[in-house]
Amino acid sequence: MSGPRPIRYRPHHFLCSLGFQGKGYSEGFTANMTAIVMGRLRATGGDATVIEVTGATDDICAPCPKRRGQLCTNQDKIKTLDRAHAAALRLEPHETLTWGEAKGRDKTCPQYCDACFSGEYPVAPSDQIAKGFAMEAAE
Ligand code: SF4
Repeated sequence: MSGPRPIRYRPHHFLCSLGFQGKGYSEGFTANMTAIVMGRLRATGGDATVIEVTGATDDICAPCPKRRGQLCTNQDKIKTLDRAHAAALRLEPHETLTWGEAKGRDKTCPQYCDACFSGEYPVAPSDQIAKGFAMEAAE
C-alpha cells in the first residue's frame, strides 16, 4: 500500500465521523478532527482514504483532553461503544479499509448520533445500541 499512512481509528469513531458537525471537547480536539474528517474523509476523493482499525486511542483521540495515555477518562463506556461498533461494522483489530468501504458497511448504524458532541458525553450508547447495534455480551 503506498501513499500517506492510514488514519488510525477506533471502531466507534467511524460513526462519529459520519455525524461530525465541527464540535468537540477543546479547540485542539476540534481542529484535529476537522482536519481528518473535513480535510480528508469528506474532501474530494476522500472515500479512498485508508483507515487502520485500532482498539486503543487513535488519531481522533490524540489531542483530546479526556485522553490518558492509551486510555480514556470514559474508558468503560468507550470500550462498550467500540465493541458495539466493531460488531455492527464487522471491524477487526489492525484491519485496513477505505473510508468508502467503511461507509458501505454501515447498514445497521444510524447515519449520525443526535447527542454526539452536544453534551458532556459524546454519544448515548444505550440509545444507539437499541437502534440496532449488535452488542457483544462480554469480552
Ligand atoms: S473522549 Fe475518549 S474516546 Fe473520545 S476522543 Fe476523547 S480520548 Fe478518544
